[in-house]
Amino acid sequence: MRSQASVLHLDLDAFFAAVEQRDKPSLRGKPVVVGGVGGRGVVATASYEARVHGVRSAMSTREARSRCPHAAFLSGRFHAYREASGVVMGLLREVSPLVEPLSLDEAFVDLEQAGLPDLEVATVTDFAQDLRRRVHEATDGLTASVGVATSKLLAKIASDLDKPDGLVVVAPGTEQELLRPMRATIIPGVGPATAERLRRAGITTVADLEEAGLDELVRLLGRAHGGGLHLLSRARDDRPVVAEREAKSVSVEGTYDTDLSDLRLIEGLLARQAGEVATRLRAAGLSGRTVTIKVRFHDFTTLSRSTTLASPTDHGPTVARSARALLAELVAGPDTGPQVRAGVRLLGVGVSGLADWVQEDLFADAEDDGAEEEDEELPEPPRARHLGAWAPGMDVVHAELGRGWVWGAGRGVVTVRFETRETPAGPVRSFPDDDPALRAWTPPVPEEPAQDPLSGPA
Ligand SMILES: [Mg+2]
Repeated sequence: MRSQASVLHLDLDAFFAAVEQRDKPSLRGKPVVVGGVGGRGVVATASYEARVHGVRSAMSTREARSRCPHAAFLSGRFHAYREASGVVMGLLREVSPLVEPLSLDEAFVDLEQAGLPDLEVATVTDFAQDLRRRVHEATDGLTASVGVATSKLLAKIASDLDKPDGLVVVAPGTEQELLRPMRATIIPGVGPATAERLRRAGITTVADLEEAGLDELVRLLGRAHGGGLHLLSRARDDRPVVAEREAKSVSVEGTYDTDLSDLRLIEGLLARQAGEVATRLRAAGLSGRTVTIKVRFHDFTTLSRSTTLASPTDHGPTVARSARALLAELVAGPDTGPQVRAGVRLLGVGVSGLADWVQEDLFADAEDDGAEEEDEELPEPPRARHLGAWAPGMDVVHAELGRGWVWGAGRGVVTVRFETRETPAGPVRSFPDDDPALRAWTPPVPEEPAQDPLSGPA
């Protein structure tokens, strides 16, 4: 924990839903739910208008529909989210060289590196207000909530206190006072199971954690977990802000607007990502032992699977083989197999457990050098048209009427609302779902896949 409030946490408000409302004028001020729209889908983000009706992230879409039947249920447009995220992260990197993204819509910024005249509360407050205003301008109207404090723990808690569109600066010396009345679950690492164990011991608030003391917490939770909570409950958090280039993993991921269900395509994309990861490892003089794949399904549930090698590698084919084996496990799983086949919308490969050295040649066994690993011809990712899927919310363009988005589809008919970020709310028209005048719209310049650390939350 620092002596001055120099850790800033910025979190865009209801990010996916806010981007949809920005780009779909008719949805502004209305309940919007982004997530898996199918039978087993879960809510990724709900707009504040939908939250009023009790809709929450991670709730089943079925439940969300029953709570808020009049909401717009949209399947998500990652190209738009990546674009907005890139604008915000770029802006943060302009104000400090030390930016640690946690996900598309969240990052820590180290203000010690921001060149401010001082780090007094008044100075960082003005700075944070100005930053929020700049985010709003640069993104055409998205709002961010910001917390500034002496540690990551407090900055992240603070950004959540005055959401949406809020700013909370925690004055140095007031951290414990702020934490004490809060529920113990505010502390990272206190999930449902830990919370239940603590509750049975009569511990429900941070003040209770503080009072319990180190020995009691270690007895209840073990040395590492108990010891960590003991420190955090006293606001003692020295975790540094770590920029991407110092990330503890090297990873590559790609998000797809269309669900991928062709296994050969998925394997090919994983192999290509594994090759990119290995190239980046070698460029940084690093190698790593743990290979992770991350998969987000069509219903927005996301999971990762890891395997640990005998020794570190920076060899593309080795990473690719591990990634394929992990995918094969998912495909064979009784729950995950059907999910993979139903469609994947994000794939990632990462290597962690990094060492700044390479173990010579341990992986150069015969099959690693095989021609099977050479760049395979990949089939193109399927276009929505080919799947016959007009996903609600997706961008489309009509030969005469221009750009719009899919309002709904079914029974051979697709209904489009013709509006964009730059237009007023537009009219709705219906077409046969194979109307040749209508096609999916994607941004003119194809973007590189996002390269966020796999370790961040989904
Ligand atoms: Mg957010």
